[in-house]
Amino acid sequence: MRRLQIQEIRCKHLLHRTGAPFAEFTLNPYVGCGFGCSYCYVPVLRAQRRQDGAEDWGSWVQVKVNAPDVVRREMLSVPRDARILIGSATDAWQPLEKRYRVSRGVLYELSFYPNPVTILTRSPLLLRDIDLLRRLVRVTVHLSLPTVDERARRIFEPHAPAVAGRLELTRRLLQAGIHTTWAWCPFLPGVENTAEHIRQYVQTAAQLGVREIWVGRMNYWGFIGASYQQLLRHYREQTRQPARWLGREQVRQLVQAECAQAGIACRISSG
Ligand code: SF4
Repeated sequence: MRRLQIQEIRCKHLLHRTGAPFAEFTLNPYVGCGFGCSYCYVPVLRAQRRQDGAEDWGSWVQVKVNAPDVVRREMLSVPRDARILIGSATDAWQPLEKRYRVSRGVLYELSFYPNPVTILTRSPLLLRDIDLLRRLVRVTVHLSLPTVDERARRIFEPHAPAVAGRLELTRRLLQAGIHTTWAWCPFLPGVENTAEHIRQYVQTAAQLGVREIWVGRMNYWGFIGASYQQLLRHYREQTRQPARWLGREQVRQLVQAECAQAGIACRISSG
C-alpha cells in the first residue's frame, strides 16, 4: 500500500470553461489522483506547464473540501444547456472520495439543474451515488477501461480498481438505466495490439450490453515512452506475449470490424 499525501484545500472556482468536444465546462473535485496510472496524461500536462507534482504523480492528492458550496454558487450563472464533464484531470471517485464525499456533494448540487453531465471514472465507488445519478436529467458515465486483461491492469495501473470491479460497475449502471459507455483509453500499444485482444475486449463489452466505445490513442508518447517500454517488457515477461505491434490502420480496421459485428458504435480518436 502506498502512502498518500493528502491536503485539504478551499477552491475559488470549480467550473472551468473547456474546448473539449463533449462539454462546455469541466470540474475536478480533487487535484492529483491516488490511482496514479502509469500512462496518465495529467502529469504530462503539469510538466509542460511547469507545475509541481508531475514527478511524484499518484502519491499526493489535494481535496477541494468546499467543492459542493462553490458549484452551488457557480451553477447560478451557467446556461441550462451547458454540458458539464466531471473528472477530466482526476478520478472524482478515487478512494479518498469514500471519506470526503465531495464528488457526491457536487452531484447533489447538479441534480437541481437540467444540464447534461458526463462522468469520466474507473471507480466502482460511483455505485454509492447511483441514487443521485438517477436524479440527473441527462447523465453519461464514460467508464475508463484500457484493458480487460487483469495481468495488464496490474502492471500498467496497479493502484486502480480491478477489471472485475469495473465490469460489475458497468453491469449495475446499465441495469439502473444509466447511459454508460466505455473509454478504451488509452489503447495500450503493444498490449492490445493483437486481433485476439481486440476481439476479447469488444466481446466483453457486448456481453455486458455496452453499446458505445470510445478509443483514445496515447499521443504523448514522447513523455512516457521510456517508462512505458519498461512496463511493456515486464508485461511480456509475465505473459509471454510476442513483441508484435499492429499498425494504426490495422488496429482501426480490426476495432471497427469487431464493433460492427457486435452492434457497438465506436469512435476512434484521430490523435
Ligand atoms: S484515474 Fe485517470 S486521472 Fe487518475 S491517474 Fe489514472 S488516468 Fe490519471
